Amino acid sequence: MAPNDHALPQSDADRAAAVSEADLPYLRRCLELAAEAVDAGDGPFGSVLVDADGKIVSEDRNRESTTGDPTMHPEFELARWAATNLSPEERAAATVYTSGEHCPMCAAAHGWVGLGRIVYASSSQQARDWKAEWGVPVTSPLSPLAIQDVVPGLEVAGPSPEFAAQVRELQLRFRTRINAAN
Ligand SMILES: [Zn+2]
Repeated sequence: MAPNDHALPQSDADRAAAVSEADLPYLRRCLELAAEAVDAGDGPFGSVLVDADGKIVSEDRNRESTTGDPTMHPEFELARWAATNLSPEERAAATVYTSGEHCPMCAAAHGWVGLGRIVYASSSQQARDWKAEWGVPVTSPLSPLAIQDVVPGLEVAGPSPEFAAQVRELQLRFRTRINAAN
């Protein structure tokens, strides 16, 4: 670490690697799943699990509103799926792509089942910034821990600037739907 690094605020993004070109198609699929979730009345989140050969072996989207279960995050479901369907070696070699950075619950599940790299399109900090901008209160009962705080040593990449506008738009669509329903 250079001496001057102490002076810089350390955001989550500073600690995560950059998203590579090869990651983009998987993140696009996550965004499609997130849009499906919003269309169904659920939160704007989608995730895919990719094996060592680059094949999508499982995918899911948020299902909180339609099930009434606040733990129905796609990243949590993928961790459970991996525990049942993949060997420890396959899990370690797998990558989980997701539209929004893992929350602490999902990061913990990811760590417990020994999954590999995480790549996210947008960060939790971006989501918090957008909510602040829209005057939406933060309702999460969890501390806003970054993935690296929950699973030290895990390889993490994100956010990807090219998806920021799209994720923001999905968040806004979701908020509009909620407000219309209330
Ligand atoms: Zn989560």
